[in-house]
Amino acid sequence: MKRKILVVDDNEISRLTLRETLRDEYEVLEAENGKDALELMHRTHKLLSAVLIDIIMPEMDGYELLKNIRKNAMLRQVPTIVVTGDTAIGTEEKALSLGATDFVTKPYNIPIVKQRIKNIINLRETSSIINSLQRDRLTGVYDREAFLDKAGSMIAAQGPGYYVLSCLDVDKFKVINEKYGMAKGDEILKFLAETFNKGFSELGGICGRITADVFAVLYPRKFINSNEVENIRRVASTPKLLLRPIVISVGEYVITDIELPVSTMFDRAALAVKTIKGRFDTRTAIFDESMMEQELREQEVADEMGGALKTNQFEAWFQPQYDHSSGALIGAEVLTRWHHLKKGLLMPCDFIPIFERNGFIYEMDKFIWEQVCVTLRRWLDEGDEPLPLSVNISRYNIIQRDFYETLTRLVKKYNIPTKLLRLELTESAFNYPNDEIVSMAERLAKFGFTIAIDDFGSGYSLLNTLKNVPANILKLDMHFLEDDGTARGRDIVESVVLMTKSFGMPVIAERVETRQQADFLKSVGCHYVQGYLYARPMPIEEYEELAKSHSKEHKPTF
Ligand code: C2E
Ligand code: CA
Ligand code: CA
Repeated sequence: MKRKILVVDDNEISRLTLRETLRDEYEVLEAENGKDALELMHRTHKLLSAVLIDIIMPEMDGYELLKNIRKNAMLRQVPTIVVTGDTAIGTEEKALSLGATDFVTKPYNIPIVKQRIKNIINLRETSSIINSLQRDRLTGVYDREAFLDKAGSMIAAQGPGYYVLSCLDVDKFKVINEKYGMAKGDEILKFLAETFNKGFSELGGICGRITADVFAVLYPRKFINSNEVENIRRVASTPKLLLRPIVISVGEYVITDIELPVSTMFDRAALAVKTIKGRFDTRTAIFDESMMEQELREQEVADEMGGALKTNQFEAWFQPQYDHSSGALIGAEVLTRWHHLKKGLLMPCDFIPIFERNGFIYEMDKFIWEQVCVTLRRWLDEGDEPLPLSVNISRYNIIQRDFYETLTRLVKKYNIPTKLLRLELTESAFNYPNDEIVSMAERLAKFGFTIAIDDFGSGYSLLNTLKNVPANILKLDMHFLEDDGTARGRDIVESVVLMTKSFGMPVIAERVETRQQADFLKSVGCHYVQGYLYARPMPIEEYEELAKSHSKEHKPTF
């Protein structure tokens, strides 16, 4: 039987030429545009040996077609050759980057076209034999391609609802590598692969390694949340090679739609993992549609953030801080707002957590710090004695290589007295096992900045933080205490204030909403408050008005 080749070209003459030259060796199928070709490929990909694709076509062009092919694990297996009259620089590169296997230009040199087709068919046929046997070199389990392939046939054989595809991700594997060395890291990966492979094979499943520290397993759904599976994960989390257990985050996709490419099923399981990464309370998540919506929202924000920064859509707002015993204004915290062109004013909860995940927070914060320095400089130049401003420093910023230089350079550039710029570092940042954050806090304090521990009360190691971090101010968040605003909450507040007093550290209570709260705080010795009781965050003009009208007789004492 002749091998089948699909020719996709809107030009009839071109199709005819190829058909005539190839017909003695191949059976030639034809499509007039990318859309028809895609449909045909979905039906016949198992039988196709190669696809020849023109770039410029109506309905769906060659690039789009390549993109669609690449998205699908089955279609991706078919070699593609781009044929085009477009010899512009970049065309070939673009086609290859979209996954084309080869590239030829029109007008055809017939013997060369034929030889190229022969070569790629040959290559594919030999490699697919190897592929089906392909094992991950380090661990011996299936590698990505082989796993997807094998899983695909198992899923097809059983039908919808039978299997679960699970993504297992080792938390902070990089830290293990750094701490114990690569060789030990490799040993751990081998141990994990062996544990998963043995355990899930016994349940009628398979295991593959997808990237360095991410594994995939396919196993029958009836075992989801079973003791058997729990047991495998427990063994995997406690390698004898390490003194401490490791944390494995698990995302699962229950395979209901078997039409999806296996790689997409895996992406869904991986998305489920993403939702629990870095959380302390859960280790497994099952995929559901809302995760996809969230991912789409994140993607949308990510697409817009660069432009938003360039067009000044981020704006520093100011929330005043007061001394409740005298009513004096003592400073303000800078909180960012996003003036979105279509969506209006966005609050930090809509974008900061996303920026902290995708790293853009550093870009945004650098912009905000500069705005703040510019503002302080202006106030100084106007001859006022400005009150301090505090800015938020995300953990992600602190671990950037040039963070310290960037921040200190700004302060020098605008000649800002360091006492006017306070840095709020969130308490949870200090929970990480590395000492990097603490030593950075030390460097910043040495430079002269005032360091505030933010969100005190949200973390897990309250006392530890106080002991280790060279902070000058504690920000006690009423919000974390409010659900038991009763005796216990009040006791905690009182002891924290007493304790910090004993080492001379002032407390600013934040999210203070009622007079009762403020009065209670005052009664236990905490005078500084920030919250809706006094004022909400406001734009700069409003804050400047407020600061002007306020008596400056009561200077803060810290
Ligand atoms: P945060 O640092 O804990 O800031 C205090 C949050 O409490 C602010 O929320 C503020 O508007 C809100 N708040 C103030 N008074 C009250 C009150 O009386 N009741 C209640 N329920 N809430 C009050 P916001 O502005 O939405 O900011 C949320 C978080 O986003 C901030 O929490 C901070 O962690 C982060 N953030 C804001 N701006 C920036 C920024 O420029 N850079 C970075 N890295 N993070 C920022
Ligand atoms: Ca803060
Ligand atoms: Ca806070």
